[in-house]
Amino acid sequence: MKHALPGSPLTLALLLISCGEEEKQAESHGGGSHRPVIAAVSYPLAYFAERLSSDFATVLYEVPTDQDPAFWEPGDEQITAIQEADLILLNGATYAKWVSTRTLPGETTVVTSSSFRDRLMETEGTLKHTHKEGEEAHSHDGLAFTTWLDFKQASAQASEIALALGERFPERKSTVMTRLDALLEDLNNLDTGMATATSGLGNAPVIVSHPVYQYWARAYSIVAPSLLWEPDMELTPGDMAALARIREEAPGATLFIWEDDPLPKNIEKLKRIGLTSVVISPCGNRPESGDFLSVMRANIAALQALSN
Ligand SMILES: [Zn+2]
Repeated sequence: MKHALPGSPLTLALLLISCGEEEKQAESHGGGSHRPVIAAVSYPLAYFAERLSSDFATVLYEVPTDQDPAFWEPGDEQITAIQEADLILLNGATYAKWVSTRTLPGETTVVTSSSFRDRLMETEGTLKHTHKEGEEAHSHDGLAFTTWLDFKQASAQASEIALALGERFPERKSTVMTRLDALLEDLNNLDTGMATATSGLGNAPVIVSHPVYQYWARAYSIVAPSLLWEPDMELTPGDMAALARIREEAPGATLFIWEDDPLPKNIEKLKRIGLTSVVISPCGNRPESGDFLSVMRANIAALQALSN
């Protein structure tokens, strides 16, 4: 192999790298300190990153609270900010559809679900629909993406983030790992809490309003046929017919799961035909109050209350 001559591309590349390093060090030691930026495509990932790195990094997560991060389209400036982040945390499983149409730097991009990529589930034939008026229609076809509702998978994603943080910021590794222990303990408590709460439901199927509960159903052994309903939609005769068909295919259901508080009249309508409404928020976006942990605890408490 030839030696790299001065001025060859390799030397140039090395020179560029060392300049970059010096600049970075100057930035972190000088007055204008560079606080690392960790970009996240979903709120659960942002929450995990905040728990693990809030003492030394800023988490970049800009999805408006009235939008679904799975289908949100960032603007060009927002994409540039994400591309320039020190770490970019992806959910994987085709979450955040914009990711597939843009180029992200391989060195800083982390697919947090990679350790269980062979356990990702397919969703079938769900129709195009909109969640909000004026929103572009989307379908849930392809891979199911609400990975974190199986709290063991959430733990794997949190661990993947901690690992990436430790590699990128070796001087922070031991504090990150201590913080990971605390986070994993919380997630483990959610896992046992959810297992206990769902065991009280027996073997009856549970009807879910939207195709986002696949991993939750698998993790806690629940049969969960799905509709394409929104909590605040007007239920038409066609919607009620779709529900009736599902009940015929999966008889015995008495429970109906919503992503958020449904309209009171929707609760009433279901009650009249023998279905109890329960909210299990996937918490894909930042909640109006509380955080990932408090929302998941409320989900568990809502299920627990049914068997009391
Ligand atoms: Zn949808």
